[in-house]
Amino acid sequence: MKILIYGNPVLRKKAPKIKIIDRDIILLSERMFKKIEKNIPKGIGLAATQVGYNISLFVYEIDDDKGVIINPEILSKKGKEVAEEGCLSVPGVYGPVERAEEIVVKALDIKGKKIEMRLDGLKARVFQHETDHLNGILFTDYINDINNLSVEEGFEIPEKLLERLKVS
Ligand SMILES: [Zn+2]
Repeated sequence: MKILIYGNPVLRKKAPKIKIIDRDIILLSERMFKKIEKNIPKGIGLAATQVGYNISLFVYEIDDDKGVIINPEILSKKGKEVAEEGCLSVPGVYGPVERAEEIVVKALDIKGKKIEMRLDGLKARVFQHETDHLNGILFTDYINDINNLSVEEGFEIPEKLLERLKVS
């Protein structure tokens, strides 16, 4: 399982909803957890589209809180907050993104049970970031000034992102 990197067209697809949660989906989510746990730095969220599966699913792991989220829909947003974000598909690149402070999300869990959650803090941010992935949106889409990006040593801003920032 490989994480697709910025510029890969699959990252721009809008993921269709999952109709049946079968064994393949369960196995995929287990592999995705392994992927974020092994990553350095450890990931806190990963969308199926980032590993080449165009389906509406993401996993998250924030300390001891982990889960599989299927067909997420953000029902409402409240407040605004800016914080630094990064993404496994844009390795080593970080930048400030404005997100809603509080959200209400509707989804299915891995057993197919309907869930509705009111979230805030980091979890709300992760859910917005990952739901964006399933709509073909990357956190860098919110950044229009190259000076707002910070790049870790040994990493580079992807060519395609550089091109966009130069013309905007
Ligand atoms: Zn991401």
